[in-house]
Amino acid sequence: TTETQTAVRYEKDADGIVTLTLDDPTSSANTMNDLYRASINAAIDRLYDELAADESSVKGVVIASAKKTFFAGGNLKGMVTAGPEDAEDVFRMAEDVKAGLRRLEKLPKPVVAAINGAALGGGLEITLACNRRVCVDDRSVKLGLPEVSLGLLPGGGGVTRIVRMFGLQEGLMGFLLEGKQFSPAEAKEKGLVDELVATREELVPAAKAWILANPDAHQNPWDAPGYKMPGGSPKSPALAGFLPAFPALLRKQTKGAVYPAARAILSAAVEGANRDFDTASRIESRYLTNLIVNQGSKNMIQAFFFDLQAINAGKLRPQGIEPWKATKVAVLGAGMMGAGIAYSCARAGMEVVLKDVSAEAAAKGKAYSEKINEKAVSRGKLTQEKSEELLGRITPTDDYADLAGCDLVIEAVFEDPSLKHQVFAEAAKHVNADALLCSNTSTLPITELAEGVDRPADFIGLHFFSPVDKMPLVEIIKGRATSDEALAKAYDVVQQIKKTPIVVNDSRGFYTSRVIGTMVNEGLALLAEGCAPYSVERAATQAGYPVGPLQLTDELNMELMAKIAKATKDAAERDGGTYEPHPGSLVVEKMIELGRPSRLKGAGFFEYVDGKRGSIWSGLAEVYPVAEEQIPFVDMKERMLFAEAIETAKCFEEGVIESAAAANIGSIMGIGFPPMTGGAAQFMTGYEGPEGTVAAGEIGLAAFVKRADDLADKYGERFRATQYLRDLVAKGESFPA
Ligand code: NAD
Repeated sequence: TTETQTAVRYEKDADGIVTLTLDDPTSSANTMNDLYRASINAAIDRLYDELAADESSVKGVVIASAKKTFFAGGNLKGMVTAGPEDAEDVFRMAEDVKAGLRRLEKLPKPVVAAINGAALGGGLEITLACNRRVCVDDRSVKLGLPEVSLGLLPGGGGVTRIVRMFGLQEGLMGFLLEGKQFSPAEAKEKGLVDELVATREELVPAAKAWILANPDAHQNPWDAPGYKMPGGSPKSPALAGFLPAFPALLRKQTKGAVYPAARAILSAAVEGANRDFDTASRIESRYLTNLIVNQGSKNMIQAFFFDLQAINAGKLRPQGIEPWKATKVAVLGAGMMGAGIAYSCARAGMEVVLKDVSAEAAAKGKAYSEKINEKAVSRGKLTQEKSEELLGRITPTDDYADLAGCDLVIEAVFEDPSLKHQVFAEAAKHVNADALLCSNTSTLPITELAEGVDRPADFIGLHFFSPVDKMPLVEIIKGRATSDEALAKAYDVVQQIKKTPIVVNDSRGFYTSRVIGTMVNEGLALLAEGCAPYSVERAATQAGYPVGPLQLTDELNMELMAKIAKATKDAAERDGGTYEPHPGSLVVEKMIELGRPSRLKGAGFFEYVDGKRGSIWSGLAEVYPVAEEQIPFVDMKERMLFAEAIETAKCFEEGVIESAAAANIGSIMGIGFPPMTGGAAQFMTGYEGPEGTVAAGEIGLAAFVKRADDLADKYGERFRATQYLRDLVAKGESFPA
């Protein structure tokens, strides 16, 4: 950096109000880099110098930004590479950033943040050190502290100030632990910002007007004498009674898996609430440092920052093909999946023709969108007008002729190859001659389905997840004949409907279904070996899965699972291979035999009363008695994680999946692989051997292989690390990024 280069412009107007404009000349966004730190500290020095020379020379300060986002936050690349040996440096850097903000807060003149774009994480923390926040009322602007979702805590004073602004309870639940992001209107309602203006041009004038009207408003409430924390301090009887419930609440929220970041936020907030501001701030820096040097936060940063961003930026899309936009989609089949797909497409602005065998069935599919909209309107999330527009775009029909003009087909009829061939043949007569042809099959090989159409190059798998309107992932499956252009178009369609695509090659079960099957089977094998059913469920949720394998099996439907297992067996035998059933498959057969196949049928591992899940079926203990000696809990957890990880490694080896980013995002967002692992590929490369295992304290793929072999010795060869994994370790390599 040259002497004149600065990321913070300093301008004083005729009224004596200084505007500090954040504008890093070396980057398209303002980030917490060295230049910023030096520049903001220099600007604050200058403010203090001017005031020391003449107390009336500065009337107040406005913090503004010249970039699209107000401020983009911390340096995550640096955090991913920091190890335990860097702890002291990380701590000092955090303290340095905070010292600057604290000096700004302590300035004896009012300081106002003029928020023109997203202020998330570190960006919001800058504004919290100001005396007032004015924000442009634009829906594209988001405010919040999402650090927890990256495995971090708001360590730029965010924990300390939020707790002092809102109190422990609301601060934790409303802002810190869930990492919620707010629109300006929501932030105003919550009290996170003080004033909204309609346009960006009004921001700085509004900030200045407030300064002129409130020349003495330079102290934040927590620095004023007699300050009391909202909701009481941890020592006050009301809160003291409530505090012990926090860890339990946290556990409930995360289903038993206490994420290191959530725990650190909770500790920093509670310990800090007992102390003066500066001590609290230092405590916060300590907890942040611990998280940064900890493997868990690196795993989450890898997944939610680097992998997700890369995928959204087109990492898995073929290069050099023009962006594409679908305008009119034919959704074939208005059942559970078709109805959800129709809604998602209509919401994204596409015209939708929803086709089923009868007008009634098609109308029923559209009714699904009507129901979602009704709810959204009643909650004030959608206007009546917008709702009608959306519904107006969905045309239910039983007539193929209505498909004229469609440039996209998404098929979601019953899982039957000859039926699928037939509906594609009919639809092809009416849709555009170059329409993209997609199937939402969950198990049928795309290459075989493509044989039923004239244009196999335009045929591709688009595997949605249920419920479609909530699940953020779509798995795109390339058939052998699928063209790059079709793949690029499919990628664009998925993004057009605001979902995240992963791309995989054709294979039985593709990537996600194949991998989740191993976790479910492993859970059932644990049951068959005598693990207590509730322990199996708890092991899964404590490992970070959203639901346990028994509940999941009931929901997936064992009759369907048996059908898929049979198809896999038939295919293996047809190819001259052998098929050895997983011990979990035998449990599925047994349950079907006992007439307890699914939630749908009202009987599974759990009891169901009026469709509501009750307790574990009391007869289960007779079929699978609980063994006197239980296997170690850490083994229960890791058997499920390793089953999925090893299957993922096989998918790499077989070329089903080609990118660690796809494996990580696909496993977390599609099938509930625990987010704090960073995803199924990152779980292996960033594996941290837990206490009580052969790999305790060791980190990385070599530790994973060691532990896999240990599980194989104890529980079966299916856990044995493959040669492919051993080769990666030997070469010091990792999965392709
Ligand atoms: P569903 O039984 O709810 O719906 C299928 C619909 O297709 C029915 O409404 C049926 O009337 C209609 N249909 C049948 N023949 C038709 C024809 N000739 N023309 C038009 N419509 C016809 O099934 P679903 O759960 O929505 O599954 C549909 C597809 O999506 C299947 O291939 C399934 O494997 C796949 N899938 C399902 C899930 C899931 O979780 N259910 C997830 C991913 C993919």
